[in-house]
Amino acid sequence: ILVLCCIPDKSKRNPSFARTPPHSSSSKVFLSLRKLNLDGYFSFENLHHAAEDFGNRYHFLPSAVLHPKAVSDISSTIKHIFDMGSTTNLKVAARGHGHSLQGQAQAHQGVVINMESLQQPKMHVHAGQLPYVDVSGGELWINILYETIKYGLAPKSWTDYLHLTVGGTLSNAGISGQAFRYGPQIHNVYQMEVVTGKGEVLTCSEKQNPDLFYGVLGGLGQFGIITRARISLGPAQKKVKWIRVLYSEFSTFSDDQEHLISSMNTFDYIEGFVIINRTELLNNWRSSFDPKDPIQATQFSSDGKILYCIEMAKYFDPDETEVNKKIERLLSELNFIPSTLFLSEVSYIEFLDRVHLSEIKLRAKGLWEVPHPWLNLLIPKSRILDFAKEVFENILTDNSNGPILIYPINKSKWNNETSMVTPDEDIFYLVAFLSSALPSSDGKDGLEDIVAQNQRILDFCAKARIGGKQYLPHHSTQEEWEAHFGPQWETFVRRKSAYDPLAILAPGQRIFQKAI
Ligand code: FAD
Repeated sequence: ILVLCCIPDKSKRNPSFARTPPHSSSSKVFLSLRKLNLDGYFSFENLHHAAEDFGNRYHFLPSAVLHPKAVSDISSTIKHIFDMGSTTNLKVAARGHGHSLQGQAQAHQGVVINMESLQQPKMHVHAGQLPYVDVSGGELWINILYETIKYGLAPKSWTDYLHLTVGGTLSNAGISGQAFRYGPQIHNVYQMEVVTGKGEVLTCSEKQNPDLFYGVLGGLGQFGIITRARISLGPAQKKVKWIRVLYSEFSTFSDDQEHLISSMNTFDYIEGFVIINRTELLNNWRSSFDPKDPIQATQFSSDGKILYCIEMAKYFDPDETEVNKKIERLLSELNFIPSTLFLSEVSYIEFLDRVHLSEIKLRAKGLWEVPHPWLNLLIPKSRILDFAKEVFENILTDNSNGPILIYPINKSKWNNETSMVTPDEDIFYLVAFLSSALPSSDGKDGLEDIVAQNQRILDFCAKARIGGKQYLPHHSTQEEWEAHFGPQWETFVRRKSAYDPLAILAPGQRIFQKAI
């Protein structure tokens, strides 16, 4: 029996929510959990870490954290809770690297499973015609890169930031500048091992338990805990030519982006971003990028303008002689402002792990652990001009709160059977407002202003019927979740009844609540 849940937003600003003592029925369960025979262990104290995430706005304290050593630790725990049926309403959240934005990996008074403790199976690379790597669901993508590169191999599809777990990104989609060609990370998995909400351990793939396989991919953790994944690999590269060019017209920028992703003979990575009123930006770039024409570049003024940047990368082997020619040919097909061509050359690992450098700098200034009221949207191509005009020219006056990414993706590279929902058009754009609420001299952090701005963007999308979807979605009513999933809602609910009928898993997504 599923009851749809609508927990009100409770943030750090209302800490009383997190301090309520556990129900007495739950206390009995915790006593019995202590008696389970595990390879790993439970912690019942100092659990604040499990109530933190990158968003730093939602803090739900669990009553226990499981540090599993074996898959059986996870299955015994869930089975035990499942077998208690309606005598408990205890919930279980898998926590990957805790880089969610609104408490999605948290479990108020429940059990959080620290997936990074699960080191089984040991990472194992299979070279051969269809190379792959078997990894634990709690493995970080950065570790996978370092291991697979030893064999000259690497995953094909990435996220911009690699200090995220396999289970965390596969529960969403895993999108970056390679997705136009290879699809998202959920499209690059051959097989998974999953512990369902009944505690069963099942292997699933396109052929074996396909309904569970597709359900779990993009399934927001609702149908099972990913304990192992088999990730498809391709050849790793050695070096990367990293390029940025600027536009002042949105339509020229988006035409060029769409042109670039329409061909297989193109760059290996294609993204883009918006720069609103950021005079200092071009100067900042000079530390990592060289202007192709330094004299003209100094004469280019970005004052007060809205600029659009395409960011591209071409992978290459240092022995390859043709790479510059190939790049010149590709660039000659574009219509960017000629004086704004910036180039850089880095190693493959440096390129893929580029956001980590920013993390190190921000951490040193204490600016990594601030609230992150991010908003990620998928906007259909047919409405991207309307969206850009209203949002970049009217709603936003600058983007000093953080980067705004925008790039198109080919829907043909997505599998419609997964739980992930996207706009129903051949091409859609990922638009990511990656804001940080930074402390200012008046003691405020601007969080409320950013949240209000995000809401204006969402209100505009609804009013203008833009037909977009939230990525890393956050909804608080049943109607919103139904609208989010649209025609896929029925399948989503059916899968929940099949694999997690007591709605034990991933309560932090706030989609389903266990019947009491
Ligand atoms: P968590 O936050 O720990 O968990 C996320 C959800 O998945 C929770 O509901 C949790 O219960 C569930 N979950 C976790 N592990 C498992 C498991 N093993 N099995 C089942 N469910 C599980 N995303 C992109 O697509 N592209 C990007 O370029 C990108 N860049 C990012 C950059 C930064 C700096 C940050 C903070 C996030 C970025 N993200 C990006 C978003 C990121 O993919 C998601 O937030 C992802 O969920 C984080 O992974 P995690 O391991 O921290 O998951």
